[in-house]
Amino acid sequence: MVIKNDKTALSQFEHLKGLDLENIFGNLKTPCYVLDKKALKYNGEILCELAKKTGCKILLAQKAFSNYGLYDFISPYLAGTEASGLYEAKLGREYMPAGEVHTFSGAYREDEIDEIIKVSDHVVFNSIGQLKKYGKLVKDAGKSVGIRINPEHSTQEGHAIYDPCAPGSRFGVTKRQWDSLMDDETFSLIDGIHFHTLCEQDSDDLNSTLDAVIDKFGDVCKRMSWINFGGGHHITKKGYDLELLEHCISKVTDMWNLTVYLEPGEAVALNAGYLLSEVLDITTNGNVHNCIIDASAACHMPDILEMPYRPEILGAYEYGDSLHDYRIGAATCLAGDVIGNYSFDEELKPGDRLLFGDMAIYTTCKNNTFNGMRLPDINILCEDNTVKPYRRFSYEDFKSRI
Ligand SMILES: *Cc1c(COP(=O)(O)O)cnc(C)c1O
Repeated sequence: MVIKNDKTALSQFEHLKGLDLENIFGNLKTPCYVLDKKALKYNGEILCELAKKTGCKILLAQKAFSNYGLYDFISPYLAGTEASGLYEAKLGREYMPAGEVHTFSGAYREDEIDEIIKVSDHVVFNSIGQLKKYGKLVKDAGKSVGIRINPEHSTQEGHAIYDPCAPGSRFGVTKRQWDSLMDDETFSLIDGIHFHTLCEQDSDDLNSTLDAVIDKFGDVCKRMSWINFGGGHHITKKGYDLELLEHCISKVTDMWNLTVYLEPGEAVALNAGYLLSEVLDITTNGNVHNCIIDASAACHMPDILEMPYRPEILGAYEYGDSLHDYRIGAATCLAGDVIGNYSFDEELKPGDRLLFGDMAIYTTCKNNTFNGMRLPDINILCEDNTVKPYRRFSYEDFKSRI
């Protein structure tokens, strides 16, 4: 059975409200992802509305979600794709061909730059050295040249791994670097400014970041034809302050008369997928009840360990808040491959199915086969509530990467 209860009103499952979960999830082979088209559409409409209202252009950051079989479905809501390098740029060009392709990489390889320029509309450099090395090539090919700046304005607490403004960061050109390395000829190559400093943040942090950008780089921005606000905007999350985002966009377009780009990954596919897993065994060690499932944090939900965070499970409560407490972990050898501690109304037993929320992002494109774990199949929950297979994986997929 698929665990659930009436008291669960978790936002990550709101697109499943009122559906027959047993019918949808009861017979799928586990572990598997289920990508939710209705949720993608819900997010897409919010983003599209924002673009229409403000004139900004919104790109999908593919590193968060690169299930290209759904690009056709989401492309009407977007202006194109953002890539972290050659392969994502090729994927965006191939599967969202009507959209723009913007590429940013921490540094470009000599043996890839020509192809990157060919498939990209914008190429954004992380340093003045890289701009000097490749900027003219991009310009001569008729493509747009960008430079990433570092406004040195940290807005995140507790997640240093996601803070490109931390002291000593390798990301973006600081004001000091700019002043000591920039010359007129190099400057004349630049069409736009890029910054990316947020992660799952609201627009108040964007607003204060913009103040730092205006303060440090305002005289540069006014000579540009575009500015890219990067990703990390939690736009499609309930409670996000859209009005302030609109204000941020109009503030810079009024001031500088340029095009604003946003390149969210998470916001495009927020809550637009689930990971279904089955309970394999329950053991008790002292006062801990360990529940071992057929999915793994290390392999299938890596951000649990990297961020770290505890994902939502449908029907589960905070540890100690209901009758039956469990520490849920994987069958892998890694002692720390623990998903988290949860409480349930009913006792768990082998064969029960657990549904993890918000599993469309930073999952299917980050998976690995550590311990020879199988890659979860990927299914699609269609708008008519039927489930269609999308991708099947096997032993061959494990073997072929080694
Ligand atoms: C990670 C990243 C994004 C997307 O970030 P989300 O948090 O998924 O919105 C966009 N642009 C750049 C340069 C990034 O590194």
